[in-house]
Amino acid sequence: MPGRVLVVDDVLPNVKLLEAKLGAEYFDVLTAMDGKQAVEVAKAEKPDLILLDVMMPVMDGYEACELIKHDPETQHIPVVMVTALSDVSDRVRGLEAGADDFLTKPVDDVSLFARVRSFIRLKMIVDEWRLREQTSDNLGLGGQGPAMMTDVDTTGAKILVVEDNKIDTVNLNDILSQDDHDLTFIGDGEQALKEGTKGRYDLIIISLGLRDYDPLRLVSHLRADNRTRQAQILMVSEDDEMKRVAKALDIGINDYIVRPVDQNELLARVRAQVRRRRYQDRLRDNYERNLALALTDDLTGLYNRRYLEGHLGSIMIRVREERARVSILMLDLDFFKEVNDTYGHAVGDIVLRTVAQRIQHSVRNFDLVARFGGEEFVVLMPEASKDIAMMVAERLRSKISSEPFDIGSDRQVQLSASIGVSEISDTDTPDQALNRADEAMYVAKKNGRNQIHFAE
Ligand code: GH3
Ligand code: MG
Ligand code: MG
Repeated sequence: MPGRVLVVDDVLPNVKLLEAKLGAEYFDVLTAMDGKQAVEVAKAEKPDLILLDVMMPVMDGYEACELIKHDPETQHIPVVMVTALSDVSDRVRGLEAGADDFLTKPVDDVSLFARVRSFIRLKMIVDEWRLREQTSDNLGLGGQGPAMMTDVDTTGAKILVVEDNKIDTVNLNDILSQDDHDLTFIGDGEQALKEGTKGRYDLIIISLGLRDYDPLRLVSHLRADNRTRQAQILMVSEDDEMKRVAKALDIGINDYIVRPVDQNELLARVRAQVRRRRYQDRLRDNYERNLALALTDDLTGLYNRRYLEGHLGSIMIRVREERARVSILMLDLDFFKEVNDTYGHAVGDIVLRTVAQRIQHSVRNFDLVARFGGEEFVVLMPEASKDIAMMVAERLRSKISSEPFDIGSDRQVQLSASIGVSEISDTDTPDQALNRADEAMYVAKKNGRNQIHFAE
């Protein structure tokens, strides 16, 4: 998995030390000697993780972090602040600047590598969604530009807290209630697993001190389940449990906080995790929406021409390599313009939707139905020879012409369709295959409409 880590420190021996440690584990290491340089290198090189010193000349770590987290190009790069200070107020200040985590100097190897691996893993997930968003943009599907993580609202988060100690439960509740969150407390690990997979939680907080259930097992179950794989997990640990925390980071927790829990630090960490979760959700939702928009037709919900043509490309390969028999059916409504002219475009739309449904209901569910153009539809039928394809075509023709279309206000229109059928040959390009079906459809029109024709 190794990735590229930017190490920022104004003291050369510190840089060299981290560079050597990370290099020994096969990470690529970039370096910068002050905050200003760090921002520049981050922008130019897009590392997978930044280890950022706090006290530096020219520009300190807080300011650099803030700039990195407010730039759409670098905001998603995880930043771990490396600090000699271990005062809680410094950590809170860092979190507010957008830092994802902290390491205290001198950095011990267990915490370092656990943290580095867990952040690089996270970055890869986010990168995957960003890449897909990029693809949507390239296809001209216009996203709203890169969403800013810093803009994400964190109020009303659904949070599950797994804690079996009464006093700690009261304490956590007191702190977390200060923000507007929707809190659920559970003391039993088994039950928490059930609840976690049932509800859609933004964040699950787990005490590493659970007595009746191994909290690491709980994390691993949550990570293995599709319904909770994406949840953010924050662990609450004792001061002397760093080995188990490192293990938990390896299994997949996103963050941890050490007891005694400082209220500002907890609130800030919770906000950071919720923000991250919602940001990732937003990227994924955008992608899915764009994909749906890109490949389906708004009016009928059928696949559109772009999808059909892409799909034909893969079908051709199967026809060539597996000698599969695939037929194409091109359907064009007869005198459809008259429907629009007589009843208006809106009624025309209703009819098109009903036609789409009738086609969809008359074919097998592995046949692919697409709206090819205005009142033209295409059906791709795998494993269908000429005889079967002609049978389906006739069924469609009859299904459209034998039953009038309801157009509201107790009115009905009668319609028919002309259908061309052809079989894909192993020397066809997608265009040739479609053209042959189209020509057959025109023969059916010329011969008097409301009929089917096969292209020999
Ligand atoms: P033919 O029998 O020769 O196919 O005659 P036709 O009237 O069906 O063919 P023509 O190509 O002249 O007209 C197709 C009409 O389909 C023209 C257009 O207004 C209509 N049309 C195309 N897309 C839509 C749509 O999305 N909604 C509606 N309501 N009408 C559409
Ligand atoms: Mg037409
Ligand atoms: Mg027509």
